[in-house]
Amino acid sequence: MLPDSFGRIATDLRVSLTDRCNLRCAYCMPPEGLDWLPAPDQLTDDEVVRLIRIGVERLGITEVRFTGGEPLLRRGLAGIVARTAALRPRPEISLTTNGIGLTRTAGTLRAAGLDRVNVSLDTLRPETFRKLARRDRLPDVLDGLAAAAAAGLSPVKVNTVLMRDLNDDEAVPLLRFCLDHGYELRFIEQMPLDAQHGWKRAEMVTAQEMLAALGREFILTPDDSRQRGSAPAEAFLVDGGPARVGVIASVTRPFCGTCDRVRLTADGQVRNCLFARSESDLRGPLRAGADDAELAGAWRRAVAVKLPGHGINDPSFLQPDRPMSAIGG
Ligand code: SF4
Repeated sequence: MLPDSFGRIATDLRVSLTDRCNLRCAYCMPPEGLDWLPAPDQLTDDEVVRLIRIGVERLGITEVRFTGGEPLLRRGLAGIVARTAALRPRPEISLTTNGIGLTRTAGTLRAAGLDRVNVSLDTLRPETFRKLARRDRLPDVLDGLAAAAAAGLSPVKVNTVLMRDLNDDEAVPLLRFCLDHGYELRFIEQMPLDAQHGWKRAEMVTAQEMLAALGREFILTPDDSRQRGSAPAEAFLVDGGPARVGVIASVTRPFCGTCDRVRLTADGQVRNCLFARSESDLRGPLRAGADDAELAGAWRRAVAVKLPGHGINDPSFLQPDRPMSAIGG
């Protein structure tokens, strides 16, 4: 198992397969992009699968989520998914993506063993998409969503970040769109993880503001049909349900007390928290010939020292050096 000193146990592994992306979202990176991780530093497909196998077979990992950057840019993604699905006990497998390329890959990924998908969609307006993501790809994202649903991935969730004076007036149309298409929408408070360190609390749209905007059009009731457990999202039934909407209030209503997440970066570092300021290297010992038990031990030690929470609301908070694009969702 992967316990920490606060009684939490990490069972949900987020694997960043690349730091590269084909969008340039304003809350993540500058328009010119970033200096990508050097290729030799990145884990090979075999190395990624070996570490996932150790996590599943020796450390109690029951969920594996592939992230990026943009994981659909990883050439070996389908093979990595298939080899993860072949592990026993079989973990639940999900993907967080910007959706571009899902029209080509959704069926293959589903057949390889992918169970569900989260697609980032922050606006339904092409001009706002261009401003936010600095690319003209909204139709590809919308087609990607439809392809995910058609391929049988379920649920198809939509992740939305609202930014003040940019898309914060789209909460209601985005929810209507998701209700019409059967997608499960979650609004995420913008977090201080952008590469340019430009995050400002005053510019962040809070969960309370999001719920107030939705509450003017919909009846929202807390969904206590399912225990929240370690789920990041607070869930609400929309107009009595069964449709739901989620709010991930990482900053204003943190949920670190029940966190079960641990992360593996594309260059083989364990991050015991999204906001960790230190990492533990597995790539080095792996390439130096460490056996599974030694790698599992290093991984356990990395999680054991996990802090109680992200500390964003502490005056001493310092944003991690590693940007979101190299950590993953
Ligand atoms: S901020 Fe860190 S501790 Fe809190 S929920 Fe996220 S990963 Fe877990």
